[in-house]
Amino acid sequence: MAKEIIEAGWNFDNSYARLPKTLFTSHNPTPVRSPKLVKINDSLATSLGLNVEALKIEEGIAVLAGNRIPEGASPLAQAYAGHQFGHFNMLGDGRAILLGEQITPLGERFDIQLKGPGRTPYSRGGDGRAALGPMLREYIISEAMHALDIPTTRSLAVVTTGEPVYREKVLPGAILTRVAASHLRVGTFQYVAQWGTIEELQILADYTIKRHYPNVEADENRYLSLLQEVIKRQASLIAKWQLVGFIHGVMNTDNMTISGETIDYGPCAFMDTYDPATVFSSIDIQGRYAYGNQPSIAVWNLARFAEALLPLLHEDQDQAVKLAEDALLDFTKLYKSNWLEGMRAKLGIFNEEMEDESLIEDLLNMMLKYRADYTNTFRALTYEKLEDTVLFGTTEFTQWHEQWQARLSRQKESKASSSQLMRNSNPSVIPRNHRVEEALEAAVEKGDYSVMEKLLDVLSKPYAHTPEQAEYCTLPPPSDRPYRTFCGT
Ligand code: AMP
Ligand code: MG
Repeated sequence: MAKEIIEAGWNFDNSYARLPKTLFTSHNPTPVRSPKLVKINDSLATSLGLNVEALKIEEGIAVLAGNRIPEGASPLAQAYAGHQFGHFNMLGDGRAILLGEQITPLGERFDIQLKGPGRTPYSRGGDGRAALGPMLREYIISEAMHALDIPTTRSLAVVTTGEPVYREKVLPGAILTRVAASHLRVGTFQYVAQWGTIEELQILADYTIKRHYPNVEADENRYLSLLQEVIKRQASLIAKWQLVGFIHGVMNTDNMTISGETIDYGPCAFMDTYDPATVFSSIDIQGRYAYGNQPSIAVWNLARFAEALLPLLHEDQDQAVKLAEDALLDFTKLYKSNWLEGMRAKLGIFNEEMEDESLIEDLLNMMLKYRADYTNTFRALTYEKLEDTVLFGTTEFTQWHEQWQARLSRQKESKASSSQLMRNSNPSVIPRNHRVEEALEAAVEKGDYSVMEKLLDVLSKPYAHTPEQAEYCTLPPPSDRPYRTFCGT
């Protein structure tokens, strides 16, 4: 078969492009010199109805590089605002372009977005480009999150551009193709609330309901229901982050989705040693987005979402505020019950007892006191292999362990089911920082993608607990320099 006639399977229907023009600017990617495909997500491509082989040839790669606009696409940059570290700014897609919405063979709708496709009207001083290392990093971590069963945007492909990008150093340029339920953010609503009309706000809210929460369409106050649903999804999402030790790093309101997916893998990282004060981002000097602060920051962000929705919640402003406040109060309850449920599962507990929370807190406090590794502590409890760590050698822990065993014996489920629950709830592998760095270094410095491929393979089955995964559970050698991550790279 001639190469040209392999259809890639693009099947666009661009609902966002039919929204009021204030919400976006139609804009094409800026072509790049010599695109080369370095990573493609075969299974994701297939589930989107795309032909992987067609994406691997010149015409397919040209689309992933922004050099060719596929039929049916309508490239645009989205407008949005956002509170960045608490300060409100006009932002927008400064280095991203939405190609369109792919309708899958199952009839689902996903945004196909290029990240790093050149300047847009929202680029401000930026170049609209992205470097290879950070795009591969987003690929690895977002796919690891997906495998951990955490709602997230996905990564379809990474292409190098053949052009340099200028940061502190000259770096190879790259473009990531990101796939998302949508790119609607808290900041999208803030933008319209600040600079749009009430009609536009209503159109945006109705669009969001139709796209993500059709179950509330017929509700008496569907905008309040929308707020409640977003709160519910975020409470579930943040609990999942906490349960695996994921630190987003830059929970600005523009980086919080309305769909409940994790988005924008910039300075994120997984925690090794358990400590709620853990921060990796170089610019988060005050620890605003520290691990332990994520639930309260989520409420703060959701309060900004509620504020943006106020004119739709009730015509009387006081009543609107009251409705929003009540809805926000639910976050803490919902988050807590999701977290407790997840923690019980991590400890093999099926039923509920009043004392469970203190049993969990006692363990976490000991982990903090004895600087225990978060993932490996739960892994050791799961495998009943209490290795030689400071924590496991203490009498405090021995006493806790007896209490825990007594707790397990008070439930009707067998030891075997409890153990299975723990295996399903405690990942043996997470994208540990030193492993991710090692994979990126081989790829970026040496053009050797084998380290990354192996890492991706291991990360794709975090609950498989295979013997081959053991080497990925080891901790980094002690270092006097803390691990640091960076934004906007
Ligand atoms: P982020 O920290 O990645 O969420 O980005 C915050 C804002 O900065 C968004 O509006 C981005 O589009 C914009 N931005 C980040 N990097 C660049 C860049 N290289 N060029 C233009 N805009 C950028
Ligand atoms: Mg962002």
